[in-house]
Amino acid sequence: MLVHIFTQHEGTAADYHEGGNGLNHHVYDLAGIGIGPFNLSLAALLEDTPEVDSVFFDQKPEFDWHPGMLIVGTRLQVPFMADLVTLADPTNRYSFLNYLAEKNRLYPFYFLQRLDIPRREYNDYCKWVESELNNCCFGKKVTALDYLEDEGHYSLTVQDIHSGEEETIYSRNLVLGTGSSPVLPEAFRDLASERVFHTSQFLDYQDHCRDARSITVVGSGQSAAEAFRELLKERMEHNYKLTWITRSASFFSMEESKLTVEQFSPDYVNYFYQFPQDKKDRIFATQDLLYKGISSHTITDIYNLLYENSVSNEEINVDLQVLTEVNGIREKGDTYEIECRQWEQDYEFTRESDVVIVGTGYHPNVPAFVKDISDYISWDDKGRYEVQPDYRLKVNVPNDIYVQSGISHSHGIGSTNLGLAVHRNKIIINHLLGREKYPIYEKNVFQNFDARKL
Ligand SMILES: Cc1cc2nc3c(=O)[nH]c(=O)nc-3n(C[C@H](O)[C@H](O)[C@H](O)COP(=O)(O)OP(=O)(O)OC[C@H]3O[C@@H](n4cnc5c(N)ncnc54)[C@H](O)[C@@H]3O)c2cc1C
Repeated sequence: MLVHIFTQHEGTAADYHEGGNGLNHHVYDLAGIGIGPFNLSLAALLEDTPEVDSVFFDQKPEFDWHPGMLIVGTRLQVPFMADLVTLADPTNRYSFLNYLAEKNRLYPFYFLQRLDIPRREYNDYCKWVESELNNCCFGKKVTALDYLEDEGHYSLTVQDIHSGEEETIYSRNLVLGTGSSPVLPEAFRDLASERVFHTSQFLDYQDHCRDARSITVVGSGQSAAEAFRELLKERMEHNYKLTWITRSASFFSMEESKLTVEQFSPDYVNYFYQFPQDKKDRIFATQDLLYKGISSHTITDIYNLLYENSVSNEEINVDLQVLTEVNGIREKGDTYEIECRQWEQDYEFTRESDVVIVGTGYHPNVPAFVKDISDYISWDDKGRYEVQPDYRLKVNVPNDIYVQSGISHSHGIGSTNLGLAVHRNKIIINHLLGREKYPIYEKNVFQNFDARKL
């Protein structure tokens, strides 16, 4: 008897074969939903773990990591060692260094002498890893989920994005890695287009910027800063008026000192986890500058470009406006009128702009189908799922749902950091195997967070 097994890349279903428990279908040990870096790391590490029969699905036609923000010159904000495998196993053949070796690029990297690789290179590295794996299927969107109580496993409805055909996949355990979605504030939603768009689409619509008379960037996170820097670079050629508006009191830089970034460590995750949820929420609310600000090298680049723009120009036609919220936007002929308010002065004003780029961040993508099985899952009073220390959702059935995304409330600010993804996957694999394949150390950094453990 046969079960649908997806073949890599093409995402078409091949043959059926009989599952282990006499049922008429194959049952995987683990089915992954979403293949961003977090689940791709798990898929890569599982290749060394033949005991776990796994399959992963992604709705995109191929692996692509934030393609709208792969701007030339942007860098990974963590050292290259935060690749998909090294922090679990430096000898794993899917390490970044082995990617370089396979591509015959070790010498250029050696002479480059940098830890922060280009963002485009990280994407290329992930694509290379994915192309070597057999358990990843692209062009496959998971649209529904069910738990089959009598059979003791989950069923997933998987739709082929090209043909629209649906298939059912069965798995004893799940891992959710559906990442995050861009947040476009309500004021902008009705006008979303190639001239009013989120930073996540920057490269898709950059051409429209080149023809514009005026461009406004809203927000002061890393993505907004990168879009502004790129527009500032091109402004001398295209001569548009460029405005950067933020509600924040300043264009704050991210806290990147070595002792501060130790908070992106397993030690801090363990420390944070132990608090009750309301205290975690209070701590999290104080940590904006650890992840929301702008890298200091990006700010330096921007300042240098502003200086360059000002040479022989009394009026450089670039505005940076802090302390100002954008409350609305409407079409006005062939341009847009933006309603602004300097909140400290309580002063309202408008700005006209041909293109508006909104850098208002991302929020966790918890797919609607998770609600299909919501009766089995514990939710907190704010509607968030409850997560155990080892990244399993609290469920009232014997089969596990591991979760990589939407766990900042339980595991803290490091949850979206690439450097902690491999640590999380070590824990998930150890749990799946019921033994410690990857050693987990309690003390990994110099400082102590937990005074009780001194
Ligand atoms: C522009 C940008 C740059 C970043 N740079 C860094 C950095 O330098 N360092 C760092 O530590 N962090 C960085 N981050 C944060 C974080 O590392 C990334 O967001 C990372 O992509 C998270 O990986 P992920 O696997 O959770 O999700 P994602 O990369 O978001 O992938 C989720 C995947 O799930 C798929 N999916 C969703 N729903 C379904 C479904 N129903 N069926 C099938 N597939 C589905 C999506 O197609 C997507 O491919 C950055 C974030 C952004 C936005």
